Amino acid sequence: MTESFDALASLVAGGGVVVLSGAGLSTESGIPDYRGPSGVARRHTPMTFQAFTRDPLARRRYWARSHLGWRLIAGAAPNAGHRAVAGLQHAGLVDAVITQNVDGLHGAAGSTSVIELHGRLDEVTCLDCGNLTSREELDRRLREANPDFVAQVFAVNPDGDVDLPDEQVAAFRPVDCGICGTGMLKPDVVFFGETVPPQRVASCFAAVEQARSLLVLGSSLTVMSGRRFVIRAAKRGIPVAIVNQGPTRGDGNATVCVDAPLGALLPELAARVAGDAATATPVGV
Ligand SMILES: [Zn+2]
Repeated sequence: MTESFDALASLVAGGGVVVLSGAGLSTESGIPDYRGPSGVARRHTPMTFQAFTRDPLARRRYWARSHLGWRLIAGAAPNAGHRAVAGLQHAGLVDAVITQNVDGLHGAAGSTSVIELHGRLDEVTCLDCGNLTSREELDRRLREANPDFVAQVFAVNPDGDVDLPDEQVAAFRPVDCGICGTGMLKPDVVFFGETVPPQRVASCFAAVEQARSLLVLGSSLTVMSGRRFVIRAAKRGIPVAIVNQGPTRGDGNATVCVDAPLGALLPELAARVAGDAATATPVGV
C-alpha cells in the first residue's frame, strides 16, 4: 500500500494528469454505486433507452421513481475526494476531468474542464423538439401535476431512480415537454443501450491522448464506455493509475493500483504532491 501510494504520488506530481472518475467517487456523498461493494446492481436493473422510449409504463415508473430520487441527488454535496481533485487541478497538476457520474459534483467542488461522459441529471431534454430545460423547472411542473404524491423511498440509485410499489407508480402523472407541448421528456443522461454523443467521446480521447498520465478514480471499469480510455492510454504508452475499492477490469492495463476509500486517500495524495496549493479554495468558488 505504501509502495503503491508512493508510485501514485510520483505519477500525479509529474502533472498533465487526466482524471477518469466513476460512481465510487460519489458514494461518500450519499449516492450509491451500482457495481460497488454495496451490490445495488444485483437487486435493480437500470432503465434502458429502449424501454424508456417504447414502453409508456416503464417511462411512468422511471419518472415516478426519479421524482423521489432527484431529492437525494439535488441535495448531495461534493465530498473530500471531489475537493481533492479540484485542489490538484488548482495546483496545475490535473488538466481535465472525464466523469461517468451524472451528479455534477466535480463542478460543484470547483473543478473546471469537466467532460460529463454520461450527461447530467440536472438537465432534461425533449426527444421531439430537442429543447433543453433544467431539472429544477421540470421538478416544479411534476410537483404541480402530482400534489399528493407521497411514497416511501426504499433505495436510491446513481441515476436518481428509486424502488417504488406498482400502485404508487400507477398514481403518478408524468408531464410532456413544456415548449412544444407534446414531446417526450428524458433526463439528459446516457441510458443503458444508448450511445454517448460521438463529439463528446472524441473530446475524451483527445484529452487522454494529450495526458501525461490517466488517473482512474472510483470506477470498476465494467462498461466499455469508460474502459476504452484506459485501453487507449495503455496503447499509447501513457501510464494509468487506478484508485478504487476492489479490483477493476482495467487493472491489467495499469501501472499502479491502489485499493482504498477515495475520501481518505485523495486528500492525502493532494497534500503530498501539491501541499497548500491543493487545499486552497479554487478561484471562483
Ligand atoms: Zn419539445
